[in-house]
Amino acid sequence: MEESALRREDKKVVAVVGAGLVGALNACFFAKRGFEVEVFETREDIRKAKVVKGRSINLALSHRGRTALKHVGMEDKQIVSKGIPMNARMIHSLSGKQSPIPYGKKGQYILSVDRANLNKELLTAAETYPNTKLNFDHKLQDWSAETGLMTFARPHGSKTQTQADLIVGCDGAFSAVRKQFLRRSRFNYSQTYIPHGYMELTMRPRNGEFAMKPNYLHIWPRNTFMMIALPNLDKTFTCTLFMPFEEFEKISTGDEVIEFFQKYFPDAIPLIGAATLRRDYFRLPAQAMVSVKCSPYHIGDKCVLMGDAAHAVVPFYGQGMNAGFEDCIVFDEIMNQFNEDFSAVLPEYSRVRVPDDHAIADLAMYNYVEKNRKIKSFVHFFLKLLDALINSFHPSANIDQVFQVTFTRTRYHVAVERWHWQDKVINRGLLLGAVGAAAGGFYLLI
Ligand code: FAD
Repeated sequence: MEESALRREDKKVVAVVGAGLVGALNACFFAKRGFEVEVFETREDIRKAKVVKGRSINLALSHRGRTALKHVGMEDKQIVSKGIPMNARMIHSLSGKQSPIPYGKKGQYILSVDRANLNKELLTAAETYPNTKLNFDHKLQDWSAETGLMTFARPHGSKTQTQADLIVGCDGAFSAVRKQFLRRSRFNYSQTYIPHGYMELTMRPRNGEFAMKPNYLHIWPRNTFMMIALPNLDKTFTCTLFMPFEEFEKISTGDEVIEFFQKYFPDAIPLIGAATLRRDYFRLPAQAMVSVKCSPYHIGDKCVLMGDAAHAVVPFYGQGMNAGFEDCIVFDEIMNQFNEDFSAVLPEYSRVRVPDDHAIADLAMYNYVEKNRKIKSFVHFFLKLLDALINSFHPSANIDQVFQVTFTRTRYHVAVERWHWQDKVINRGLLLGAVGAAAGGFYLLI
């Protein structure tokens, strides 16, 4: 077993485990503060790899994520210029009618960004700091909460051990860092797989142009199914089909794929192409989606979890990465507050961040359940109408949940509380209205 001593010039060593989106960004935050930063990633360097395996091809980047990128000077040049603004959602009805629903206020938009490109840019940015070292092909196997000693598996069966003052677990939903937390007392953990899976399909350009209007997040809501499409710089769209696994499994031939699309997404067939659909549907199996909640996020002054390692959320609010990026800002703010004293910063981080990450996990799950309600009842429709009315009469109150989550840094749990308050007001209003109407009717009757 080869051993490497990381301590240089008496600077504290921060080991970031996982060089995905959150890990790579976090490395920049710690490097900016002057720590010796060592990043350990199980995969090879994706900037050199021929094929980059992973989840969704593109993602929606919104205010929280952009603010975090700005903190490390990366928002505009590298990321925003390579993103495609989506000013509104475009709802595709079964008949093929398209109706836009704008986001927030006029001029507000979210960005469609390429996941692989964003990750590569973040790695390159981290590497520009002389106090950062990226170690690829290092898979964390075990670590000690007492000493900070970590053991990594290397290709060809060898192992390496290294030690750090702080271990930052950014190793995703199935975190190896988190395993150590599970062995300890008073650590809360829950994970839920939803019955839906997702599959990505590509809509190629038509005559060199986007096949649909590019500045929209296209949505085909179909009760228990849903398809969305986000634009890419190469003028393709990545369509993501969300559907219960049992429905995916019912389709086993090309003809059945076309039959299914004809029934639910007829306008998408000529756009994706029947032959492409027949082929691409069977290229990869549908992927699972998991929601992970845990607390606390730290062990003593040695280790902290961020990003999906702390809170994997289902993707129906487009907030997983945005929340992970915001984790980095919140931690940074607390580092300022407590003068970089890990023994004070880590517990404070758990105290502040757990309620917010749990709130966005719940909200994303609520959105998932809501999107899959079979019958949109009249009462439900009426409540939504009242929501919209209150927001248009009282925009300064900022009570629109989507607006607060997507376009502000209002703490997630506060956004949820305000939204519950608004619901309560509407329900009471409805109740009062109904009682008033009943009393009036009774009076007239008499
Ligand atoms: P990951 O991206 O999972 O990165 C973890 C890294 O750790 C990986 O590089 C992995 O190789 C490495 N690793 C794992 N184990 C080890 C180990 N033992 N040792 C060393 N390294 C290890 N979020 C949004 O904000 N907007 C969206 O529009 C959006 N869309 C989504 C669509 C889908 C279909 C899905 C599934 C998710 C979506 N998300 C979205 C969520 C987003 O993908 C995640 O929140 C984000 O990737 C989390 O980043 P992360 O760095 O924490 O984890």
